[in-house]
Amino acid sequence: MVARKPPADYVKVQPTLDAFAKKLKDLSRDDSLWEVLKINHQRSRYIYEMYYKKKLISKELYSWLGKKKVIDINLIAKWRKQGYENLCCLKCISEKTCICRVPHQNDFKQCVNCGCKGCASSD
Ligand SMILES: [Zn+2]
Ligand SMILES: [Zn+2]
Repeated sequence: MVARKPPADYVKVQPTLDAFAKKLKDLSRDDSLWEVLKINHQRSRYIYEMYYKKKLISKELYSWLGKKKVIDINLIAKWRKQGYENLCCLKCISEKTCICRVPHQNDFKQCVNCGCKGCASSD
């Protein structure tokens, strides 16, 4: 069971999460699935930075957001591994490693799974 009431420090991330929720809602049917993936990615990224990098939110909040599926805990776990810091989505490493697992390039043909233009970390 996931607690209905968010942890107290939810107020810290609420404005940003609300903005992401609005963006998702505003996507039209014509927008590609890539757009949805992109916003979900940005949202997980935001919480990842707030928790692991800036240490501004509690573990309670982090796991609550995970259980609520606001963020993708499995994807975030990958970001903590060397070489996977920028991984776009789990799909691109699940069956076989996708063509997008190269350092980001603007002229790269987008990945067919998720629209990624290269997500290997360059260092
Ligand atoms: Zn990728
Ligand atoms: Zn890919």
